[in-house]
Amino acid sequence: MSADAPITQDVMTIPRKLPEGPVNLVGLTRDKLREALLAIGTPEKQAKMRVNQIWQWIYQWGVRDFAEMTNLAKAYRAQLAEHFVIEVPEMVSKQVSADGTRKYLVRIAGGHEVEVVYIPETDRGTLCVSSQVGCTLTCSFCHTGTQKLVRNLTAGEIVGQIMMARDDLGEWPEPGVGTGEAGPRLLSNIVLMGMGEPLYNFDNVRDAMKIAMDGEGISLSRRRITLSTSGVVPEIAKCAEEIGCLLAVSFHATTDEVRDKLVPINKRWNIEALLDALRAYPKLSNSERITFEYVMLKDVNDSDEDARRLVKLIKGIPAKINLIPFNEWPGSPYQRSDWDRIEKFADIIYKAGYASPIRTPRGEDIMAACGQLKSATERARKSRAQIAAETGISQQ
Ligand code: SAH
Ligand code: SF4
Repeated sequence: MSADAPITQDVMTIPRKLPEGPVNLVGLTRDKLREALLAIGTPEKQAKMRVNQIWQWIYQWGVRDFAEMTNLAKAYRAQLAEHFVIEVPEMVSKQVSADGTRKYLVRIAGGHEVEVVYIPETDRGTLCVSSQVGCTLTCSFCHTGTQKLVRNLTAGEIVGQIMMARDDLGEWPEPGVGTGEAGPRLLSNIVLMGMGEPLYNFDNVRDAMKIAMDGEGISLSRRRITLSTSGVVPEIAKCAEEIGCLLAVSFHATTDEVRDKLVPINKRWNIEALLDALRAYPKLSNSERITFEYVMLKDVNDSDEDARRLVKLIKGIPAKINLIPFNEWPGSPYQRSDWDRIEKFADIIYKAGYASPIRTPRGEDIMAACGQLKSATERARKSRAQIAAETGISQQ
């Protein structure tokens, strides 16, 4: 891989075909839902209350049928059913790893597919959510980055992944019983670390996460949501101001020379520019530490000097460093660092005063680990002509 590798690959961007027929209410912001309700004749005075009621049915109780919304008048329920639907992405397949990790393949409008991963741990359950089909960026160690199809997911498709997982986990509360105060939720945390670069789909990710954080929505604390970016510098402050979740950054190298090769967006915004943006983040978002993700690649970025440089670079930023043993995929150009090398690296960082957990690879046996996600549609390797024909776009 040369340093001249392009930042973006020769991808084919799939335009989203707007589904015909009734409007899906999943993913609509409060304002948009209000507009939709007014448009079908809901009295202005009632609109705010109806938005709250409908949100609660959809996101707190998991209801998909307007007929079950018993605190709305029967005639109004029928009217809603005439104009709207409540739909989440369709689960195409589910694989369960020996360690309990679940990988779902879900189908979204247009027939494209994305992967979603659920990772159970003792004190939490984390859902790794996708923000795009594929990714326009070309990080050389990432399987998703080799996928040729790219489409932004809608807010409904993003929040719909969370709802689909709650369906599968059987985690919707029973009406009349309560909303799960009894213990930790099975799905308690969200990481935007699936397929895609979330900051290149900012508005939809923001709208979806607002629903995830809202007390009448999925109702997760913003401290339980982490957005991971490869370093789209101009969007980082916006993420703090408009979403306010925790931030993780795919750092992966301590010199521009190496980072240019691993995370080519570094050629656009280099390490210095990235660190400047990160320094402002915790203040802007009122959040705690930033997670620096660092994939351990044998003989590429794993020396003692790298560890020392890393500590120097992030000085002054409230941070924790998450070391990710490289997850191999068929044909990947790198190897995972040896275990004692990873431990040595972690030790240098720890002694400098930073938490430096080594992320245990989860779900490797089902190709569900970080950076291994790539949709099955793509694995079938359709020709460009075939794709063009299917999506109705002309080939350049
Ligand atoms: N596009 C975003 C989020 C998705 S990737 C980003 O790049 O941050 C989630 C994390 O997995 C990132 O830190 C990414 O660099 C890392 N990753 C990608 N491929 C990997 C691999 N093969 N092994 C280990 N981690 C990988
Ligand atoms: Fe895209 Fe993130 Fe993979 Fe880079 S690591 S190609 S930004 S998904």
